[in-house]
Amino acid sequence: MSDLSARNCTLGAGGGRLSARGAGGGHVCRCGATGCWETEIGSAALLRAAGADPAADVADLFARATQGQEDVIEAFGSIADWLGVGLVNLVNMLNPQAIVLGGHLGMTYAIASDRVLSQIDGALPASRELVRMCASRLGGDATLIGAAEVAFSALLEDPVGLLRRSAAS
Ligand SMILES: [Zn+2]
Repeated sequence: MSDLSARNCTLGAGGGRLSARGAGGGHVCRCGATGCWETEIGSAALLRAAGADPAADVADLFARATQGQEDVIEAFGSIADWLGVGLVNLVNMLNPQAIVLGGHLGMTYAIASDRVLSQIDGALPASRELVRMCASRLGGDATLIGAAEVAFSALLEDPVGLLRRSAAS
């Protein structure tokens, strides 16, 4: 990983802008730059790296990787490299205590955690020491389940108090 350069692009999943420390190279993004995170770690990137049909299911790729198919494992690995490059920037900026990867990124972490962690290990020591990494066990529904928990968080935290407040109003 040399030839470091800055890359900016709007992330589809996060909705924000990220300045990722690029690894050099990368694919041309729809924004015109190369090496944008969304373009390098999206499910389309995984399918492309595996030489799969763009409409294929990433869960099928995950199954092939867990069965030991080397070229598919390498496809996950190439995504893992870029995932780590972006995450190390987030770790340095935000000092998170945990990063939970869902969907195809969780699959990527399950297949190639060593390649993600080799990047994360380059974070600032205090930030690296704080953060724990894991793959979500909620599969493709993780986002929906998380959104539902946010919607019901007040009820889950204090069900009696919420009922009292509702009855009083
Ligand atoms: Zn872009």
